[in-house]
Amino acid sequence: MSAKIIDGKAIAKKVRAEVREEAEKLKAQGIKPYLAVILVGDDPASQVYVRNKEKAAEKVGILTTTYRLPADVPEGEVRDLIHKLNEDPKVHGILIQLPLPRHLPERELLELVDPRKDADGFHPYNLGRLLMGAPTQLPCTPNGIIRLLDEEGIEIKGKDAVVVGRSVIVGKPVGLLLLSRHATVTTCHTRTRDLAEHTRRADILIVAAGRPRVVGADMVKEGAVVIDVGVNRLEDGSLCGDVDFEAVKEKASYITPVPGGVGPMTVAMLLKNTVEIAKKIGKRS
Ligand code: NAP
Repeated sequence: MSAKIIDGKAIAKKVRAEVREEAEKLKAQGIKPYLAVILVGDDPASQVYVRNKEKAAEKVGILTTTYRLPADVPEGEVRDLIHKLNEDPKVHGILIQLPLPRHLPERELLELVDPRKDADGFHPYNLGRLLMGAPTQLPCTPNGIIRLLDEEGIEIKGKDAVVVGRSVIVGKPVGLLLLSRHATVTTCHTRTRDLAEHTRRADILIVAAGRPRVVGADMVKEGAVVIDVGVNRLEDGSLCGDVDFEAVKEKASYITPVPGGVGPMTVAMLLKNTVEIAKKIGKRS
């Protein structure tokens, strides 16, 4: 059996169309959805990610300003900027592009963002609400993964879901979302004794390890749904996921490609969070 390849680009396009419609409705009420991005330093990957977010926001009618700060910016200046954006009634979403340079305390700065304006859903207040099953801005990549499953009509309830990776950005929150949808969730990491023993039991396998092709066909159950979150740059410059796509697609029932799977969903869900915030706290201008 060859898996159905989940078209993340097409599903992200659908989400962006929904966001555009919402943004137009808000504008008709005098509310202009607005995302402020803080980018520190000159990490080439971060520059590309931010440019993609700016372009995508512009296309759906979300205003953006990117505050580009030098790599050696004093912590106080970043704090002052966050306070200014928190207070600015025009600004709905605030996003701090990660990773930050080592001298900046990432977690403390994320916590300074007004939780109502937390476009990425990384603030402890919002992560806490996610843990409690309360409505909140959800982290973009995990929320995008759930949307992919829903769009494909893949039932989550009662399934054995295995997540490889336990980061705060992907692994832990996607596990919580799957649990809230009544999957039985196992989370694996580098100290997991026998990774394959767990992954082979998965009806839904989410791989977010950041290790090229760490999951091969022998680690996947026949007919499993495989979501590959990993983005790895190989020595020849090409991109590959955490899953051996060519081999696993012959065994899985659904699989996401890299690129073109989870990646486009992350940006689409960021835009969705921004209009949702504008709906909640938007001020007429
Ligand atoms: P991360 O913070 O480095 O976390 C990786 C996790 O995977 C850790 O929990 C680690 O375990 C676990 N892990 C690593 N190697 C493993 C192995 N061989 N076996 C089992 N577990 C292993 O990474 P992240 O931020 O979650 O991102 C993961 C990947 O997704 C990266 O490739 C990243 O670029 C990609 N990503 C993509 C998107 C997108 O939009 N497509 C968004 C976010 C991230 P320990 O905790 O024990 O170290």
